Amino acid sequence: MTSSEPLTALIVGGSRGIGRATAIRLAESGFDIWLTYRSSHEAAERVKAEVENRGRRCECLAFDISDHDAVEAALRERVEKTPPYAVVFNAGITRDNLFVWMTRQEWDAVIRTDLDGFFNVTSTVLFSMLAQKKGRIVAVSSVSGQTGRAGQANYAAAKAGMIGAAKSLAREVGKRNICVNVVAPGVIETDMTAGMPREEINAMIPMQRFGTAEEVAAVIDFLCSEKHMYIHGQVIGVNGGLAM
Ligand code: NDP
Repeated sequence: MTSSEPLTALIVGGSRGIGRATAIRLAESGFDIWLTYRSSHEAAERVKAEVENRGRRCECLAFDISDHDAVEAALRERVEKTPPYAVVFNAGITRDNLFVWMTRQEWDAVIRTDLDGFFNVTSTVLFSMLAQKKGRIVAVSSVSGQTGRAGQANYAAAKAGMIGAAKSLAREVGKRNICVNVVAPGVIETDMTAGMPREEINAMIPMQRFGTAEEVAAVIDFLCSEKHMYIHGQVIGVNGGLAM
């Protein structure tokens, strides 16, 4: 990235896993960071220190992305004053269960966080980004949203919904010089996948291993920092060949 003023990146869900790696990677690319999370205060403070060690500023903001009023209260005034150049919508949860056993609570929790959260955040920041006539939006979906996965109907629905929403948004804002893309990770080593049967899953992946958060962050960084950008409205898999 080359710019006289440091640009700001809003990393939604930046306290752990892929979001943490993305905050650090974007800081290395020269962004100041607004790092959001829900409740992992200590983890967020550790990421803030890592960003600051790289010579960039970092502000931590705790709020629940599924709560529209909380998102507005945390972000509206801030983005009107300083529109972010890059927004990475990365926060997400799983509540896995076979469809036949899935409860309404499990369905709602995932849709409200993973899909409604994308709407809540993006709709809050979009107007100020449009006024700037530049920027990048990256939504973190999942291979489950591309192919479906047994036990993840709620999660796959939310992540597929996000792909549809991001592509529609891309069609609306491309003329304003805002590139919108989706990154769809496969199975990545984070808290979210800590309990998974590693041997069994490795056997399904052509690269025969889980991905790292840094490998996903590298792609997000490219989409946010590369100057020469004509990638727009795309879904980029980072999955070791799990889906192709
Ligand atoms: P983690 O569980 O490690 O981290 C999730 C992040 O999202 C945390 O910062 C968490 O904050 C935040 N978050 C969760 N719920 C909320 C909420 N309601 N409001 C605000 N923030 C919230 O996730 P990963 O790094 O594994 O995954 C990141 C993204 O990548 C997710 O969208 C996930 O669906 C997707 N993904 C992950 C894959 C994997 O294999 N790990 C595979 C495919 C996609 P806090 O720390 O406060 O809880």
